[in-house]
Amino acid sequence: MEPVIIVGSGLAGYTVAREFRKYDKTTQIIMITQDNGDFYSKPMLSNAFAQKKTAEQLVSSPAKNMVEQINMTLLAEAKLKTIDTGKHEVDTSLGRYGYSKLVLALGADVVRLPFGGDAAQQILSVNDLLDYAHFRTQVASAKRVLVIGAGLIGCEFANDLLAAGIKPTVVDPMSYPLTALLPEAAGLAVKAALQAAGVEWKFGTTVQAVDRAESGFRVTLANGEQLDTDLVLSAVGLRPRTALARDAGLEIKRGIVVDAHGETSAKDVYALGDCAEYEAGVMPYVLPIMTAGRAMAQTLTGTPTPIVFSHMPVSVKTPAHPVSVHTARPGVVGTWEIAIAEDAGLKLLFTDEAGQLHGFVLTGARTSERAAVVKLLG
Ligand SMILES: Cc1cc2nc3c(=O)[nH]c(=O)nc-3n(C[C@H](O)[C@H](O)[C@H](O)COP(=O)(O)OP(=O)(O)OC[C@H]3O[C@@H](n4cnc5c(N)ncnc54)[C@H](O)[C@@H]3O)c2cc1C
Repeated sequence: MEPVIIVGSGLAGYTVAREFRKYDKTTQIIMITQDNGDFYSKPMLSNAFAQKKTAEQLVSSPAKNMVEQINMTLLAEAKLKTIDTGKHEVDTSLGRYGYSKLVLALGADVVRLPFGGDAAQQILSVNDLLDYAHFRTQVASAKRVLVIGAGLIGCEFANDLLAAGIKPTVVDPMSYPLTALLPEAAGLAVKAALQAAGVEWKFGTTVQAVDRAESGFRVTLANGEQLDTDLVLSAVGLRPRTALARDAGLEIKRGIVVDAHGETSAKDVYALGDCAEYEAGVMPYVLPIMTAGRAMAQTLTGTPTPIVFSHMPVSVKTPAHPVSVHTARPGVVGTWEIAIAEDAGLKLLFTDEAGQLHGFVLTGARTSERAAVVKLLG
């Protein structure tokens, strides 16, 4: 029988591989990855600098150990080039391989906005270990860092820089941080707490140009303001890696579209993780990946198992004012109510007409109630 091929050695790829081996000890697994296959916790990239961690220290299990543990073949630094779903074959920089089942765990690319200026190419972003290693070297001598984007990753980096003694300035077109995740009251609480801790916010404007300055960079904002900084870090979002799947004729919306079992529109081709779009949408977080990986491994080993996402709140790792948020499923009609509003933290609840809880936001000290509130979700 042809092997099962998994493309990608991030959390998604490794979760499927590990789980697959629990149910099937013999079928060959080939993992193809364009990085070196070391296993690391990606969420640590945005809070490792203050802890003085090197990229090497973030590796929780080197590729060699993963290969032994899982009993698989690793093709590292190998790039997937094309997928032939008819022939059940992939073409890679190391040659062609046939598959019985193919799992795409390709992750997401950082969004790069077209900034002007003669130093736009020097704007950094951090989405994998290599990026982190580069960022860590560059930031070592910085006193000021300008962060573009006040979403989850931008806020986490801003807080981490603060903790490392570096002054962060965060630029975002909205009027408060984490707008994609939080209602205004909660966003304003995060804004105030991080500001009190030392973050400088520049809301309601965008970065237009980044130019070299005598020392560091000069950043020009759309409102005409100019800011001097030692480093510019972009955190404006991620885009599922879909190009190869699109070229192979797979259905794509925002991500690679999969059904309840994680199968794409092509037979025997599955997708999960940041590259995938489930029936519930794109879910680029750790808990959904683990849920999808466990179910998919059972399906791949002969027990069709739907991916069922339970309640999976997202945590924002901003120690100056942490956040735990659970958003209601699409289509649920309800209203936000502020249950508790204290300087130490907020509790907001999203309930339907019948009073059933469907979503919540806990900030600051209130995040300690997370487990209790999850139990109340409908
Ligand atoms: C800074 C940061 C902080 C985060 N914090 C949190 C958090 O606190 N909580 C949370 O739940 N989530 C967090 N996330 C999101 C979470 O880390 C991701 O959802 C998850 O790690 C994605 O895993 P993945 O396996 O889908 O993708 P990736 O880890 O990106 O893996 C993709 C793999 O595909 C390989 N690949 C891609 N293209 C090819 C190709 N053509 N050929 C061969 N190989 C290829 C890559 O080499 C890589 O091995 C954070 C993300 C970032 C960037």
